[in-house]
Amino acid sequence: MTPDFHRHDVIVIGGGHAGTEAALASARAGARTLLLTHGIETVGAMSCNPAIGGIGKGHLVREIDALGGVMAKAADAAGIQWRRLNASKGPAVRATRCQADRSLYRAFIRRAVEQQPNLTVFQSAVDDLVIDGDTVRGAITNTGLRFDAPAVVLTAGTFLAGKVHIGETQYAAGRMGDPPATTLAARLRERPFTVDRLKTGTPPRIDGRSLDYSAMTEQPGDDPRPVFSFMGSRDDHPAQVSCWITHTTERTHAIIRGALHRSPMYSGQIEGIGPRYCPSIEDKVVRFADKPSHQIFVEPEGLDVVEIYPNGISTSLPFDVQLELVRSITGFERAHITRPGYAIEYDFFDPRGLKASLETKAIAGLFFAGQINGTTGYEEAAAQGLLAGVNAARFVRALEAWSPRRDEAYLGVLVDDLITHGTSEPYRMFTSRAEYRLQLREDNADLRLTPAGRELGLVDDARWARFEAKREAIARESQRLGGLWASPNNAAGREAVATLGIELSRENSALDLLRRPELDYAGLASLEAFAPESPVDAEVAEQVEIETKYAGYLQRQRDEIARQQRNEGTPVPDGFDYAQVRGLSAELLQKLERVRPQTVGQAQRIPGMTPAAVSLLLVHLERAR
Ligand code: FAD
Repeated sequence: MTPDFHRHDVIVIGGGHAGTEAALASARAGARTLLLTHGIETVGAMSCNPAIGGIGKGHLVREIDALGGVMAKAADAAGIQWRRLNASKGPAVRATRCQADRSLYRAFIRRAVEQQPNLTVFQSAVDDLVIDGDTVRGAITNTGLRFDAPAVVLTAGTFLAGKVHIGETQYAAGRMGDPPATTLAARLRERPFTVDRLKTGTPPRIDGRSLDYSAMTEQPGDDPRPVFSFMGSRDDHPAQVSCWITHTTERTHAIIRGALHRSPMYSGQIEGIGPRYCPSIEDKVVRFADKPSHQIFVEPEGLDVVEIYPNGISTSLPFDVQLELVRSITGFERAHITRPGYAIEYDFFDPRGLKASLETKAIAGLFFAGQINGTTGYEEAAAQGLLAGVNAARFVRALEAWSPRRDEAYLGVLVDDLITHGTSEPYRMFTSRAEYRLQLREDNADLRLTPAGRELGLVDDARWARFEAKREAIARESQRLGGLWASPNNAAGREAVATLGIELSRENSALDLLRRPELDYAGLASLEAFAPESPVDAEVAEQVEIETKYAGYLQRQRDEIARQQRNEGTPVPDGFDYAQVRGLSAELLQKLERVRPQTVGQAQRIPGMTPAAVSLLLVHLERAR
């Protein structure tokens, strides 16, 4: 039968990082999916720095990968400088980051979208949603085409009523060079959503040939290079290049201070709040007035292009000031700017209007993901997109929504933070946001999430087979080491004492020895007595080592999680009347009505919620049952 061009199961609006993961996840989960986006050429485009990962963000990339998403694979195919951050710190905060070739990344994402069965793309601007009462029915393009679907995922990024600022100049745009979504923004403001403004910014780009690298410090990538995808390998990486480090000077700061009255941020022209953790250079100069210099990472935009990204000087100052300040930076004296820096303001929706599935509470079947929920960053957007996409596909088939808990994934932390607390500034992920950090490591993202991904239909047979083999190998190796013994009187003990220089006063299993801080897996496996019959995969060895060394802490966290389970697992019915809960203060009642938590666990995390109030809620819910 010829497929109906205008009717689909799921429509995804926007082909950015949220939209592409949403469309791929929805299609993989079995829904006939349509991706509507402004331009097929800009599918997977990176609006700002072409870099993937970092602390907290790298964790999200691995989680997206564990759930069958595309971001890690694209980074592997495009990463031109790789680093393992916090390598000498504990495993909870170790993170992967790569500088990517912008066009290789975009090409990989576009190919993945085009080759995905069940997924079609149509290039057009969406101007309105079709909403019938409190249910979404589809979307309408700027040329009047109507597409119908019982579920729609909106991922419009910075485009909703987007406004670019460069000094006193301002104009409507989704990002530089792309049209804004002005009509759609106006239509959405007529709907029952709470809308506000945020802003973000980007630095000017520079022709790398005009820079003096001899005045900068070279920063080569790591060797060996980390790999992002569970299914990836170092062979996927293209050629590798260095980044460079330089600094702003006292003159740079003087130029900025002298031009602050022309900055749209300080003149009051920009109303939206920007990312606190990614401030503009003018913000840094004002906030850290005593610092004589700020570091700048000089990062390549790609292998075949001359442009570089000067990470650390995001600005919306007028262009003449940008040129002057850029040329005051060490090594940038003759710099040629290829594109000006700018700030962009855009509409976002209060994420407290969302369920944990990312479906809006106001309109059934309508999901929001990415920057429009108040986040910043490709990784935050992609993770939400994957979640919204799979849940949209499940919604269509009347299956229960899926969302990981805070102790299962950074994705769970991200969504729970957003829907419980909302946000007044662009939200980015940090490891410090997770209370169960030691559980939520980059290195075990597959073990935490791939089984769920398999059940959701997102994980293919090849990944599942490799995952099962890894899981079995970890169990086998732990068991093997648990069954090998070293004592002061046996050969293994004597070898351990002689080779590793340890003290041994009684019998220990090899696993017991691995718990000692001074010993590691490689050292133990180098002993003849403990050597495996065939080489153990490095990732298997890493898991055995971390799970053994941190077994005590991990168990304590698991006990704490189990204690919290009762509240997490107690749902608050939709439309619940909090006024009926006797004894709640007026202030808490107001907060509960604002957030409308879906579980008692979520209610517990509302700021100001007391243990007594949680008990009142629990007692009421139990009585009502
Ligand atoms: P986007 O990547 O913006 O994608 C939105 C997509 O939707 C686009 O393909 C667009 O064409 C499409 N679209 C929008 N409206 C419509 C419509 N009506 N019809 C059809 N298609 C539509 N992140 C950081 O982490 N650090 C930074 O320093 C940083 N700086 C930034 C600076 C700038 C100037 C910009 C623009 C972004 C910056 N970001 C930064 C944010 C990062 O780019 C976003 O977080 C990320 O791209 C969000 O992904 P998304 O999928 O939500 O939206």
